[in-house]
Amino acid sequence: MTNWVYSFGGGKAEGSARDRDKLGGKGANLAEMARLGLPVPPGFTVATDVCRHFYANANALPDGLEREVTQALETLERQTGREFGGAGKPLLVSVRSGSRESMPGMLDTVLNLGLNDKSVEALAKASGDATFAYDSYRRFIQMYAGVVLGLDHSVFEDIIDSVKQESGATRDGELTADHWRTVIDGYKAAVIDELDEEFPQDATEQLWGAIRAVLKSWMNPRALTFRALHNIPEGWGTAVTVQSMVFGNRGEGSATGVVFTRDPASGEDCLYGEFLPNAQGEDIVAGLRTPHPLSKAQASSGDAVSMEDAMPVTFQELKDVAKRLENHYREMQDIEFTIEAGKLWLLQTRDGKRSARAAIRIAVSMAEKGLISKTEALRRIDPASLEQLLHPAISPDVERIVIGRGLPASPGAATGEIVFTSEEAVEAHGAGRKTILVRPETSPEDIHGMHASEGILTIHGGTTSHAAVVARGMGKPCISGAGAVRINAEKGTMLAGGRTLHAGEVITIDGTKGEVLLGALPMVQPELSGDFGKLMEWADGIRRMKVRANAETPEDALTAREFGAEGLGLCRTERMFNDDEKLRAVREFILADGGAARDGALADMQAMQEADFLELFEIMRGMPVTIRLFDPPLHEFLPRPGREMEHAAEAMGIDVERIRQRAEELHEINPMLGNRGVRLAICYPEVIEMQARAIFEAVMKAGEKTGKKVVPEIMVPLVAYERELKFIKDRIDVIAKAVMEKWGTEIQYLVGTMIELPRAAIRADKIAESADFFSFGTNDLTQSTFGISRDDAGLYLNEYLRKGVIDRDPFITIDVEGVGEFVQMAAERGQRTRPDITLGICGEHGGDPASIHFCETVGLHYVSCSPYRVPVARLAAAQATLANGTDERA
Ligand code: ADP
Ligand code: MG
Ligand code: MG
Repeated sequence: MTNWVYSFGGGKAEGSARDRDKLGGKGANLAEMARLGLPVPPGFTVATDVCRHFYANANALPDGLEREVTQALETLERQTGREFGGAGKPLLVSVRSGSRESMPGMLDTVLNLGLNDKSVEALAKASGDATFAYDSYRRFIQMYAGVVLGLDHSVFEDIIDSVKQESGATRDGELTADHWRTVIDGYKAAVIDELDEEFPQDATEQLWGAIRAVLKSWMNPRALTFRALHNIPEGWGTAVTVQSMVFGNRGEGSATGVVFTRDPASGEDCLYGEFLPNAQGEDIVAGLRTPHPLSKAQASSGDAVSMEDAMPVTFQELKDVAKRLENHYREMQDIEFTIEAGKLWLLQTRDGKRSARAAIRIAVSMAEKGLISKTEALRRIDPASLEQLLHPAISPDVERIVIGRGLPASPGAATGEIVFTSEEAVEAHGAGRKTILVRPETSPEDIHGMHASEGILTIHGGTTSHAAVVARGMGKPCISGAGAVRINAEKGTMLAGGRTLHAGEVITIDGTKGEVLLGALPMVQPELSGDFGKLMEWADGIRRMKVRANAETPEDALTAREFGAEGLGLCRTERMFNDDEKLRAVREFILADGGAARDGALADMQAMQEADFLELFEIMRGMPVTIRLFDPPLHEFLPRPGREMEHAAEAMGIDVERIRQRAEELHEINPMLGNRGVRLAICYPEVIEMQARAIFEAVMKAGEKTGKKVVPEIMVPLVAYERELKFIKDRIDVIAKAVMEKWGTEIQYLVGTMIELPRAAIRADKIAESADFFSFGTNDLTQSTFGISRDDAGLYLNEYLRKGVIDRDPFITIDVEGVGEFVQMAAERGQRTRPDITLGICGEHGGDPASIHFCETVGLHYVSCSPYRVPVARLAAAQATLANGTDERA
């Protein structure tokens, strides 16, 4: 084997599909196809080592390369019976780029190289088709001048246009050899004009020019951007493949095209693609002519003749080759082909890109046919892509009028009338109308409006803003930070995409893409059974960790169950007061001076909580339910000063001054570090006693109603001192005893804590003395480990990401080295005290695939995430089990 250059063709090759690193994806797969005996035009690939050498040595080519290329060319001449740059039967080649990962269209390609004033005549004679020969020559000059000499293509387009105009032709195909000669003269003159140099006539000079140009294209701005976006290291470099030409532009029996072995949108097992008769590869990409469909099935709409109709024999051959390649690679393939005078040639194959839906269908069907294993099918699906399938989506083939863009904050699509306030959303909802809530930004006051609307659009905020987090939790589509949209609250209008829209006008938001669209668009509904269901079943058979959901409303709990949650890992009790009547009870409690008023408010709250818990327990039918005691600071429940406060005072029949004064007393400079969680419980034990009573009463009633035993898991938030937890646990135990005595039955229950402060992680062994379980609250743990506020961090974290100070937002993917270390430490220390302690995670990270992998390595027992993330977590947990080697069955 040689050093720099690897030949392929005639059923043999010096490399194979395993040599992507050296030969690039294109070169490696051409070698593989040649080995398989498939019809591949022979050629050779200059290895990626040359590219690395080129950049390490001030654009110098390595010693010995020239000799190896010359030898490979001689071999090629022998194989094809043609002569490179000669006047006999001319050998023409393409010079193609190709790196390890495909970078479609990012690097450059030159076709028809080897043509000059003499060989074009030889080609005309040898092919008996002068039009074809001169068309090829002008294509070559045009491409070479663009890619190698750096001329702007508009110069050449003007020349073709003027020749077409003079001759009255409308399509390139109508031009004759003589016309092309005129075009070529024009091209050559243009080159001299622009460069003061003749167009190179020497084939060898052309070849080295093209090789260097392909190497240089590795550093062009397009390629640099693409690599940055896709994390492709510069050091990979590109290979250069030199391949003998085949011609799709030799009249109507010739064509060029692209075929997918499966439909990339639906995953259906059928050929899918397009072709262009009498054309070369770049014509399809350039979009100058509309390609024709490949199969009859595809052609059903529209009147273009399919390849299946026009070339039935070659079509069948293509179909066979496609199946063969797919079976060989065990993956859907995306194949480039050319037909020269009825003969099929393959020019490229690679794994095909596909939609999330297609990916599942293909993986499942391949596993069912035994082409791949079930675990391989599981590995192939990106868990994050599942979420888009769980929400309604806009039908793929409808026209979209985009009037605004923002961040894709919560996936799915929704249509509704524009409303600018939460009150209007609630009112419209009551009247059975669907709305999109459009706000500058949302606050906790907007929860009811968000619930009542189909989707949320905010002008400010990032993907971790209030609107984004809450919408994801609710499974509603949301676009945040649509900065170009302007709201005029007074007029009740918004300005978007140059249009003024009034409240009540209909828009659609696509939260998956972040697009605001005009009008109502048809939707496709999620499909949870079928292939999706099978894949989930396979994942469930593999994964070690359980998956629970964060939910507190009956709707969310039902959704969670439907998506396969095995319990609730976080039920945020404060969110159960998100309704006017309930909020009023809390406010009465906060405002009461003590005595009867306070007891009355507490009794009301208990009744409400009990009813809510009962409903949840019934829905979850004996599955574990983790109830977190009251967490936020009390002042969050008071109305905001101004109109809202006046309204509330009026409704409660009290003086607004009372509320104002109480709000002042409760005011905190830094509420995130304030009187919340267990601190609140210690200041107001009656609140959590009320909650404990409500829980135990509901447990008894749910048990009676469903016949399923409920074992509630009561969770204390924000614990730092072991004595905090002990203090609360003792009180819960007292209440439990009282309820048990009242009912005359035993109740089994667990008391545990969130680990969300560094001190709690450090003291986990001590804390575990009173904790049956730990649940890692990684949102707060991230905030408290870094000392940053999630609600305000967007601005500088984005700057950090942009400047490469961090690779990932720690609120999206757990910071393994820092926050993760606390998790690991707490898990170990907790288990030291209590080997059977249950360990889970309930922060947003519980639904993030990379973080789920981390949880597997720590050995957590479950992850808990928002209901719509449950399938994502089921698959990610299975992949984590596979990756970690923790699966005994695989
Ligand atoms: P890209 O990486 O941008 O897809 P390619 O190297 O695949 O670029 O070249 C683009 C197109 O040029 C191919 O799809 C094919 O149609 C055409 N092409 C490349 N090499 C040859 C060849 N040897 N003979 C005929 N057509 C070719
Ligand atoms: Mg290609
Ligand atoms: Mg918390």
